[in-house]
Amino acid sequence: MTESLPEDLRAVAEVYPVKTTAHYRSLIREPGDPIWRQCMPSQEELAPLQETLPDDGLGEIPQSPCPRLIHRYADRAVLLSTNRCFALCRFCFRKRLWKEPPFIVSDEELETIDAYLRDHPEIQDILISGGDPLTIPDGRFFSIVERLAVIPSLSIIRICSRAPVFEPARITDAFAERLGKCEKTWFMTHFNHPRELTPASLEACRKLRANGIPVLNQTVLLKGVNDDPVLLAAFFHELAARRIIPHYLFHIDPVRGAAHFATGMKKGLEIMEYFRKHLSSVATPVFALDLPEGGGKVHLFPDYSAGEPQIFRSLDGRKIRHPLA
Ligand SMILES: *Cc1c(COP(=O)(O)O)cnc(C)c1O
Repeated sequence: MTESLPEDLRAVAEVYPVKTTAHYRSLIREPGDPIWRQCMPSQEELAPLQETLPDDGLGEIPQSPCPRLIHRYADRAVLLSTNRCFALCRFCFRKRLWKEPPFIVSDEELETIDAYLRDHPEIQDILISGGDPLTIPDGRFFSIVERLAVIPSLSIIRICSRAPVFEPARITDAFAERLGKCEKTWFMTHFNHPRELTPASLEACRKLRANGIPVLNQTVLLKGVNDDPVLLAAFFHELAARRIIPHYLFHIDPVRGAAHFATGMKKGLEIMEYFRKHLSSVATPVFALDLPEGGGKVHLFPDYSAGEPQIFRSLDGRKIRHPLA
C-alpha cells in the first residue's frame, strides 16, 4: 500500500500507517473522493495545528482504572479489546494505539477487568471497542463476549465495529447467530457516507438484525467527506429505511492527526436545524461533542428560544409564544 504512494504521502504514512481492505478500496472512484479521504493519508495529518493537540485528546488514559478499560461515566465503561482494525480511518481518535505493537486483551487483563466490573455493579453497559473487536478470531472474540455476558450487573454489551463497512463478509451467518444468542448484545457500527451502503454491507447488518441484535450507527461529521445537510439527510433516511438506527453524529475529536476534519460545531448545528425540517425524528441522530480532559460527550441542539420567556423561534422563522412553557 505505502509503496504506491507519492513520496510526500509516504512520509505521512511513516507516522500514521495506511491500511484498507479490498472491499473498501473498490468503493473509491477517484483520488480525493469521500471514500479515499477516509482511508488515504494527507499532508494535513502533519500540519502545525496537529502539534497543538495531544494524542490522548479525550483524556482516556487517566480514566483507565486497569489496563484496557476506560471508566468515565457512572454506569458504562469501555473495553479496549484490541488495537487492530480492518482499515485505518484517517480521522481516528485513538491514533495513539496505532503506535503500540498489535495486542488482543489477554486472559490476565480480562481477569482484572472482570473483578473490577463485579466490584462496580453500577456499571451496567460495556462497550467492546478497540481497535475493531471483529478483527479478533471468533473463538477468542466469543470467549470475551461470553465472559462479560455472565456478569449479572452487565445488561448491555455493545460491540463497536466497522466490519460491516470494511469487511462485510466477516459477518457470517454463524457469527450473527452466536452473537444473537447472547441477549445482551447490541451492534454499534459506523457508516459515514451513502456510498458505503453497499449490498454486502446492508446484508451484514440484516443478518445481525435477523438474529435479534439492535443495529445502531454512529457517524463522524467530517469536513470534505460528509459535511453537507442534504447528503446527510438522505443518508440517515436510507439507514433508517434499512432499520439501522442513526444514533450519534459526532463532531471530530481534538486529537493530534485528525484535526483537519473539523467542521466546527456551528456547521453541525446548522445540519441539525436542516434535519428538523427535512428528516424524520426516527432517522435523526443526536449531535455530540466529546470534551477533552475526560469531560465526556455533550449533546448539542439548535437553540429555539427567542430571547424572552415562553417565546420560541419556529421552524419557519416566526416568533411564537407557548403559554405553558
Ligand atoms: C462514548 C463513551 C461511552 C458511551 O457513551 P454513550 O453516550 O452512552 O454512548 C462510554 N464510555 C466512554 C469512555 C465513551 O467515550
